[in-house]
Amino acid sequence: MIPQPTSACRRAASPLLWWRGICVCLLLLLTGCATTAPTVPPQRSALAHWTPSPNFNARRAQLIVLHHTSIGNMEASRRVLSRAGGGNPVSAHYLIGDDGTIDQLVDDRDRSWHAGAATWAGVTDINSSSIGIELDNDGVAPFSSAQIQALIRLLADLTTRLGIPKQAVVGHGDIAPGRKNDPSVQFPWATLAQYGYGLWYDQPLIPAPPAFDSLAAMRLVGYDVSNPRAAIIAFHRHYRNMETEMLDATDASILYSLQRKLMAPR
Ligand SMILES: [Zn+2]
Repeated sequence: MIPQPTSACRRAASPLLWWRGICVCLLLLLTGCATTAPTVPPQRSALAHWTPSPNFNARRAQLIVLHHTSIGNMEASRRVLSRAGGGNPVSAHYLIGDDGTIDQLVDDRDRSWHAGAATWAGVTDINSSSIGIELDNDGVAPFSSAQIQALIRLLADLTTRLGIPKQAVVGHGDIAPGRKNDPSVQFPWATLAQYGYGLWYDQPLIPAPPAFDSLAAMRLVGYDVSNPRAAIIAFHRHYRNMETEMLDATDASILYSLQRKLMAPR
């Protein structure tokens, strides 16, 4: 038989038991938090039961957008593209220096902040569907051979590894006509085309049919033609290394070639 405490003992033991109970509860809470909290990967919701379906594809970038930094100084470009907070934080997945150095600033799976307000082929949230590549350049000087060769190597890597079509390489000026002009008229799109990157026309050019609609062809290529003048300047910068605003017969021939390529059966 277990001896029962006297009422005096019960009065003396009560505060001790009370504190011990509090301590045990706190300990259980702490250890419980540490051992029973679910470990949920950040890309899944802790609110839902994970019941996986096999029917899905990885979401991936569909477009590569080229820029020039307008800075022409690699260290300053790194600082601008990595600056946290502030009024207008920007970034890009890659930064290529004048000497061909390639920095990666954002994971390919993540959304870098490089495009801003832009439209291409009717898509407006370009940041969510693209890889952004900044070329360190002041917007006036020619792009160095080392920088272009590094870009071509990076494009080969990205289009192979991420499955982005080789033709899906455009400039910031193409997707934001009237607002952006990079990469500048100095950019060698024809050189990229020799390696198969970007949409390019066949040569020799042949004349477009008399009723050919150049603006409709520009829309088919991907340009937002709601401001025709801005779209034509962007098209000229990309395809003719100039920034004039009147379409001519050569433009019509180029666009006719691009249209035939896009509409050819695959
Ligand atoms: Zn840009």
